[in-house]
Amino acid sequence: MDHTRSDVHVVVIGGGVSGLAAAYALRRRAAERRVPIRCTVLERDNRFGGKILTYREGGFLLEAGPDSLLSRKPAGIQLVRALGVESELVGLDAHRQHTSIVHRGRLLPLPAGTQLAIPSSPGAVRNTELLTPQGKARTLLDLVLPADPAGGDESLGRLLRRRFGDEWVDVIAEPILAGIYAGRIDDLSVQATFPHLQEWERRHRSLIRAARAQVRERLAVPASGRSRGPGNRRPVDAQPVPAPAIREEMPAEAPPASPPEGSPTASPFVTVRGGLGTLVERLYDELRDWAELVICAEVTAVEKVAGGGWRIRVVHRDRPLEMEADGVIVTTPAFAASPLLAPVCPAAEKLSQIPYVSTATVIVAFPANTVPAQAGTGFLVPHREQRAITACSVLSTKWPHTSPPDVAVLRCYVGRAGDTAALELDDEALVQRVLTELRELLGTPGRPLFSRVTRWPQAMPQYRPGHLDMLASVERSLEAHAPGIVIAGAGYRGLGIPDCIRQAEEAVRKLLHALRS
Ligand SMILES: Cc1cc2nc3c(=O)[nH]c(=O)nc-3n(C[C@H](O)[C@H](O)[C@H](O)COP(=O)(O)OP(=O)(O)OC[C@H]3O[C@@H](n4cnc5c(N)ncnc54)[C@H](O)[C@@H]3O)c2cc1C
Repeated sequence: MDHTRSDVHVVVIGGGVSGLAAAYALRRRAAERRVPIRCTVLERDNRFGGKILTYREGGFLLEAGPDSLLSRKPAGIQLVRALGVESELVGLDAHRQHTSIVHRGRLLPLPAGTQLAIPSSPGAVRNTELLTPQGKARTLLDLVLPADPAGGDESLGRLLRRRFGDEWVDVIAEPILAGIYAGRIDDLSVQATFPHLQEWERRHRSLIRAARAQVRERLAVPASGRSRGPGNRRPVDAQPVPAPAIREEMPAEAPPASPPEGSPTASPFVTVRGGLGTLVERLYDELRDWAELVICAEVTAVEKVAGGGWRIRVVHRDRPLEMEADGVIVTTPAFAASPLLAPVCPAAEKLSQIPYVSTATVIVAFPANTVPAQAGTGFLVPHREQRAITACSVLSTKWPHTSPPDVAVLRCYVGRAGDTAALELDDEALVQRVLTELRELLGTPGRPLFSRVTRWPQAMPQYRPGHLDMLASVERSLEAHAPGIVIAGAGYRGLGIPDCIRQAEEAVRKLLHALRS
């Protein structure tokens, strides 16, 4: 690469989807504005992708980390398009979608029409076997309770317990919502996770009414720019339930335009035919001739240079290295960003207060005829069931293209906030534990065709109440004390892949603005 001294050098720390998307946005913006930027991406591990990890082996496509994108959050689909991968998108077939909840050791279907964790149909609440008569009555009190005028941030648990009572929350909402963050519903900030719930309460008072209105609105919106005849309408109760077992988020924002009917993006969740690793590979291909992409490069310090800019200290394959940068985009988890940034911006110390929870995914495969249809596309396990498995996705049913038809592939999640004991087991014991629980719940065989354990230490950030205020104060301090350093990534404003991409793009905008001024 031919670099001149007038080049602006930007270092991206971390090569997960946030870091790669930031480098990609930087390249695009640099080209648009004809700014001579060079970029270095430094990744500690021996591969790019971070939490995105796809195995392609023996006719199977196994996602050890994320397996899908929420299509309504535009940043993900826009990047897929820009990378030329749109034709490889596969939508989740709503008619295959069938998620259960484990209740006293049995798999019971989610009440029909549940919109993420909010009931949209009083009839379905009355009919579910998951709740006692008292629990049902308390859930439906939401229809008449006044809104809480307090405003401000609160925990998801507090808001939902106010509206629906404890039973709906502990049996249904907790495994759906907390599962996304592997967190405790009573410790997660509403404003940082599902801000639309407060907005729904403000506008509709009842969350059931709000969810119902959403369903109606969706049914009324023509899917391809034309009005749907009544014959084309699905009954409200047959609305696809967002797949909670895949740890995704309900969109807080509206889709930019309705995708054409039949298009994969008309489905709430999409994946890429070759696996989400394809996105990492395409980003790498797009960047490799423009940026310096370095693996096995752990950033150990960021220091201020007297004449302006930043010195980055790196250990690259056990050798110390240093480089100077005009701008720095830090996309590591918050606990890794904090010690790098606190010496140049003391407020960044606060980032270390964002707790992270460790999890593992245990993939097991069985002959397809040994897994009962009742397993559907997966199930969720409430905390109170006291099991190691917190959720299970039947990947072969959810995404049939990922395995041969005679094999059922199940991906079980283990580990959540306050319950990580099973993660202490070694791989063999962990697989045995998962197999025992699957046998109890589904009657699957004791020996799988194969299994694979992937550990995700300190992987899931927990946005506590007050998270966004804390973050805003750190970002203000960074602007004041460390101009040219920006942060982005799962630890901050959404951990879903589309949120990470959006944050990366915003960080680039902010950085270029700072560098100009
Ligand atoms: C099991 C699991 C399932 C999930 N399922 C979904 C899903 O279905 N859909 C979805 O949208 N999201 C899902 N998520 C969330 C999503 O995958 C992650 O939030 C997202 O990929 C995080 O991207 P990131 O780049 O911000 O962070 P990371 O992927 O964590 O990348 C950060 C990178 O920084 C590197 N790094 C750390 N310290 C340093 C340092 N000092 N120097 C250099 N590099 C450093 C790390 O090695 C890492 O590669 C899931 C997550 C997990 C764990």
